[in-house]
Amino acid sequence: MYTFKKIVTYILDILFPYECAGCRAHGVLFCNRCLESCPRATSTKHSFIYAVFDYQNPIIKRSLWRFKYENVRAFAEIFARPLYEKILDELCDDIDTHQQEKYLLIPIPLHSSRRRERGYNQSEHLAQGVMSHDNSSIFEFAPEVLIRIRKTKPQARAEKRTSRITNLHEAFTCPDPTRIRGRTIILIDDVTTTGATLLSAKHTLSSAHPRKILACTVAH
Ligand SMILES: [Zn+2]
Repeated sequence: MYTFKKIVTYILDILFPYECAGCRAHGVLFCNRCLESCPRATSTKHSFIYAVFDYQNPIIKRSLWRFKYENVRAFAEIFARPLYEKILDELCDDIDTHQQEKYLLIPIPLHSSRRRERGYNQSEHLAQGVMSHDNSSIFEFAPEVLIRIRKTKPQARAEKRTSRITNLHEAFTCPDPTRIRGRTIILIDDVTTTGATLLSAKHTLSSAHPRKILACTVAH
């Protein structure tokens, strides 16, 4: 019986290489039930930053690690829906009263050398995932608007808060300020801890006078 179970598991592993990060069910990276039951993030200390899940939850933490460092890009599709819903929640009043032009969806960029090294930018995949839910066409995907000009140490090996903030000073540039003047910007990232990266990006973009800047991350 034990051997039979092992054979079945072996076959399932080949047929469905993924298993749910929560309940280990075969065939999905994260089943809906487990995703829905993950604890939600408390509010961040920066009023422009919104997050969906609590980063302290081990299932969320492990999944985001795999998404970022182990090339499991399919997590973008899993996290894009709750991220999209969170953005809509936060924007609902704005959509009713102010929306004229599309909201610019800007993923936090990696430095070009880090992107080459990793082969992809997880935030860009998330933003593209959000775009795939945008049936009412209220978003415009604009990854070219923000460029990372300074390499920073990966967040996973974050140092003390103060040195991280110094490290991020002028980490970004906005090559074409006319693209964002008067527009509403939504920055997308996988995780925020101190908020330093998003603050630095906001600082850079603010000099081009957008109407408003929000940031939304999968976890905090
Ligand atoms: Zn599950």
